[in-house]
Amino acid sequence: MASTPRTTPRTPPVTVRASAKVNLALGVGPRSEDGFHPLATVFEAVGIHDVITAGPRDDGAITVTVEGAQADLVPTDETNLACRAAELMRSRWAGPHLGADIHIVKSIPVAGGMAGGSADAAGALLACSVLWDIDTGPGDLHDLAAELGSDVPFALIGGVALGRGRGDRLVPVIFRGTHHWVFATAEEGLSTPGVYRRFDELGGGAGDLVPTALIAALTRGDIDAVAGGLGNDLQDAALDLRPELAGVLEAGIEAGAMAGLISGSGPTVAFLVGGEAIGRSVAKSLRGLPRVSAVKLARGPAQGAQLMAGTLEA
Ligand code: ATP
Repeated sequence: MASTPRTTPRTPPVTVRASAKVNLALGVGPRSEDGFHPLATVFEAVGIHDVITAGPRDDGAITVTVEGAQADLVPTDETNLACRAAELMRSRWAGPHLGADIHIVKSIPVAGGMAGGSADAAGALLACSVLWDIDTGPGDLHDLAAELGSDVPFALIGGVALGRGRGDRLVPVIFRGTHHWVFATAEEGLSTPGVYRRFDELGGGAGDLVPTALIAALTRGDIDAVAGGLGNDLQDAALDLRPELAGVLEAGIEAGAMAGLISGSGPTVAFLVGGEAIGRSVAKSLRGLPRVSAVKLARGPAQGAQLMAGTLEA
């Protein structure tokens, strides 16, 4: 049973940290009648984080402000996924008088195939549920998350998980060890629906088969087998739309990465590397490339959306 939602003028802001993701495997089946493609994907949350803060308002308004290098690419109206998340939570669980000032500090590449908007939506769900004192459980949050987008449920739980259906039906995967990643981002994003369209035009991929060998490798902590099991059915479509990304993939491998792949629908290129030192050296080679706008090092698996220390203090 939910408690009565409330805020007072003294309700402190609530801050949540939410992680980016990379798809270690992305198996895509043929487009079905509802327009969606069935997926069998293995998500890994990685340590590139957006920080989402929700502050109290009692006039019913929900506002969004964004800061960070790519802030100008993120909408601040009701189309922002964090705003949609807050609206959805309020419509289901709270009264129209409740509002929130949502502030996002953005580090996850925008339109980069790393589910940054989904991370912000998951963060806003969690932050608003605490701000408005709504007693939601994990199942309630998951259902709201799935309504907002296919990648939002994973952003709540983090770690490593197998996603089926649209990627929203999740089973956690046991993993051993830490993965070191290098991500090369592009200045201009790729539209996810556009990549799926090209995927269809190119004749589809290997299908939505569960990558059992990869899952076994994750559980054993066998990094070589993890590297060998990485795969993305959307990669050919993303490379077709952005041929220059093939050169980025080659450069990372030449510089010593164990494996490279397009992250989700791209255009971010993800490289699994054997450790931090080689990661720095791969990053250095990639930074020189003309089409690479930024290079980030990160570890995975990371946690899902989490309240940050001190946010529950009165
Ligand atoms: P997808 O989950 O579709 O693969 P992505 O990770 O490639 O997405 P996002 O960073 O989520 O890309 O952004 C996709 C688009 O969503 C952006 O171009 C932007 O216009 C819009 N958007 C809405 N809300 C947000 C948000 N909070 N952060 C980033 N983009 C947002």
